[in-house]
Amino acid sequence: MTTSSNPATSIQRAAVLGAGTMGHGIAHVLSAAGIDTRLFDISEDAVASGLKKVTGNLDKGVARGKVTEEARDAALSHLSGTSDMDAAIDGVQIVIEAVPERMDLKKKIFADLGAKLGADVVLATNTSSLSILEIAQAAASPERVVGMHFFNPVHIMKLVEVVRTEVTSNDAAEMALGLARRMGKEPIDVRDAPGFASSRLGIAIGMEAIRMVEEKVASPEDIDKAMTLGYGFPMGPLKLTDLVGLDVRLAIADYLKVELGDRFDPPQLLRDMVERGELGKKSGKGFYSWEDSARG
Ligand code: NAD
Repeated sequence: MTTSSNPATSIQRAAVLGAGTMGHGIAHVLSAAGIDTRLFDISEDAVASGLKKVTGNLDKGVARGKVTEEARDAALSHLSGTSDMDAAIDGVQIVIEAVPERMDLKKKIFADLGAKLGADVVLATNTSSLSILEIAQAAASPERVVGMHFFNPVHIMKLVEVVRTEVTSNDAAEMALGLARRMGKEPIDVRDAPGFASSRLGIAIGMEAIRMVEEKVASPEDIDKAMTLGYGFPMGPLKLTDLVGLDVRLAIADYLKVELGDRFDPPQLLRDMVERGELGKKSGKGFYSWEDSARG
C-alpha cells in the first residue's frame, strides 16, 4: 500500500454524462468531494430531475445527522447541470459517462470526447458489463479510458470497480483509483473481463436463486433468508434482482452467456417474468410485491 499523495487531488473539474439513476449519484459524490461537477444529459428534464435528487439526498443526509448543513451547501455549490455537452466538458480533468448500456451509444460518445478533449483528460465509463476495450478503441488515445463501475445508490454504496483494459495507462488507472478514494469510496483494481469482479459473481448467484424458485426449492423469501441469515449477505439475491430490475439482470446474463458460456444461461422463469412486465420494484412486481412502495 503506497502512502504517496493521491494523484486525483489535481482534479478540480469533472463532467458526468447521463443524469439518470447512476449519473446523478456520481455527480453527488464528486461535488461532495469538492470537485466542480457538471451533470450533462440530452434531456433537460433528466438534468433537472437529477439535480433535484442530489439535493433531496443531501437534505435526507442532513435530516439523519449524516451530513452537516455546511457540507450539503458546499456540495451543492460545486454542482451544476447542463444539456450543452461542450459546456459540460469545458476545462475538465475527467469525464465519467453514465448513459444507457448500449455499445453503439457509448462508442459514439467516446469518439466525440476523444476528438474534443486533450489526451491528458481521463475518460471513465460506468458500464456494468460492456467491454471497456471496445469503448476505448472508439476514442482517440484509448490509453486514457478506464472503467469506473459505481453501485446503486452511489452516495451510499462504498464499492467502485476500477477496470483497466490492456491499453489503459497506469496514470489513468491511478487517477481513477485516487478519485474513488477522494470520493470516500473503496476501489478495487480489476482487469477488463466480462462481468468484471462483481457482476460475474452476482449474476451467477442471482441466476441460481431464480432456478431454485423455478424448481420450487423454497419461496423467494426463504431463499433470500438462506443467504442473509446463513451467509451474512446484506440482502438476498432475489430481492436484489427486484431492486436492480429483472430486465437489467436478464440483459447482463444474456451477455455473460455469450462471453463466458452456458453457465450464465438465464432461467426461463426470468425470461417469462420480463415478458410479462414483472421487472421488480420499478414495475411494482417481481419476486416480491412492491405495490405499496414508491416507484422509480
Ligand atoms: P438511466 O436510464 O437511469 O440513465 C441514463 C441517462 O442517460 C438518461 O437520463 C438519458 O436521458 C441519458 N442519455 C441518453 N443518451 C444520452 C447521451 N447521448 N448523452 C447524455 N445522456 C444521455 O441509466 P442508469 O441506470 O443510470 O445506467 C447508466 C449506466 O450505468 C449504464 O451503463 C448502466 O449499465 C450502468 N450502471 C447501472 C447501474 C444501476 O444499478 N442502474 C449500476 C451500475 C452501473
